[in-house]
Amino acid sequence: MRLWSRELWRIIWLAFLGMCLGWLLGYPGFGLAAGLTLCLVYQLRQLRALFKWLTLNPHDEPPAATGMWGELFDRLYRYQKSQRITQSRLRATLARIQESSEAMRDSVVMLDRHGDLEWWNSAATDMLGLQTAHDRGQHITNLLRDPRFISYFNAREYSEPLTLTSPIDERRILQYQITLYGDDERLVMARDITRLHRLEQMRRDFVANVSHELRTPLTVLSGYLETYGDLKEMLPPRLSKGIGQMEEQTKRMQSLVNDLLLLSRLEIDRGGEDHQPLEVGSMLESIRRDALALSNQQHSVQVALECEARLVGSEQELRSAISNLAFNAVRYTPEGSQITLRWVALSNGSACIEVDDDGEGIDPVHIPRLTERFYRPDNSRVTETGGTGLGLAIVKHVMIRHNGKLEIKSELGKGSVFTCHFPADRLVSKPTAVAVIGIDTLPMRNRVVGVTGRRSS
Ligand code: ADP
Repeated sequence: MRLWSRELWRIIWLAFLGMCLGWLLGYPGFGLAAGLTLCLVYQLRQLRALFKWLTLNPHDEPPAATGMWGELFDRLYRYQKSQRITQSRLRATLARIQESSEAMRDSVVMLDRHGDLEWWNSAATDMLGLQTAHDRGQHITNLLRDPRFISYFNAREYSEPLTLTSPIDERRILQYQITLYGDDERLVMARDITRLHRLEQMRRDFVANVSHELRTPLTVLSGYLETYGDLKEMLPPRLSKGIGQMEEQTKRMQSLVNDLLLLSRLEIDRGGEDHQPLEVGSMLESIRRDALALSNQQHSVQVALECEARLVGSEQELRSAISNLAFNAVRYTPEGSQITLRWVALSNGSACIEVDDDGEGIDPVHIPRLTERFYRPDNSRVTETGGTGLGLAIVKHVMIRHNGKLEIKSELGKGSVFTCHFPADRLVSKPTAVAVIGIDTLPMRNRVVGVTGRRSS
């Protein structure tokens, strides 16, 4: 403000001086005009100096000036200098980040908000075949054209990685993971997991082969044991007891081998060949009957249909998955418990099959690990229930093969709900709304079919 008033005084003084000189010469008006013109010339010269400095030599020292103009030049110079320092610091940071990304063995690709390529490291050139000269500014889906990558990229749901073969080398297996950051920009990371994939493949093949090889000896054993079992009365009691136990254990081993083989097949096969629209109602009804037979009519099992659509999938796999859930509900709940198998339409167009019970429930600490192979919250009950520890792992794999997911909710003392979610594109509408099980007088929503088997006390 001080500089500004000094500048103002300078103009007033020059104008006054010009006017006094003009007055002495008899032309005060001309004198005033000459004084003001002098001021204008001075200001224009400073403006020209500023313009020349900023346009021609912005990095040089500023032109020499006094007063307000001098201060203006100084400030601009200081501001420019601090900007230059910040810029070079940013450049150095960026170079360091790019250097470290360059040193990474994983591919790193930076995309702008439209999905166009901005920058990538040399591993990306090697793994994905990106060429610096041609590909910068191209949309990523023009270069990575696998339909599975395109739908993963467009879905914007990146919580799970995507595994695909490399676009330039079929033998390499890559795992893609996308991260959203900044102004809707995306970072695509790709890891070469060929070795891991091969090891996993070997493990699967090993389990499948061992299980397969065990099948024949087990069949022979159980055949002989069955024959000896028929002759129990003729054997001494100690021997017949042993044969009974051997029979029981052989059966357990057989179901373990069968489950292991099923799990291996679910993991190895791509599946999808036998997918067709299914009447979920009739499937649930037949599972209900099997569950009742397992429970020996000691549980109440019911089916509720709250969805009219048919489900596209493998009948064999889905039946096995839902049966596992229903049989678990029978095995892990006390007699007299209520079990419901539900086919439910959800508001977002998808649907789910729920198996709920009012049994003892599961401690929430075990829930995240329940679908792991052989994980059991209560190991002491293994022989009692006759389970293999693979039931929920099978359900999880069947759901993955149907693009769905298994959700488990449970509360101790209140019961459990096992929900199999299916996406909307797995549903097809029925030609007519007639109930599959032949009861068409009730409205579809909340229809409860066949409540039987409650324990008579
Ligand atoms: P298992 O052969 O032991 O039944 P699963 O994978 O089918 O193996 O189930 C894993 C564990 O989850 C079971 O051992 C049991 O403790 C628990 N579980 C499964 N279903 C239920 C249920 N409806 N209620 C309580 N616990 C359950």
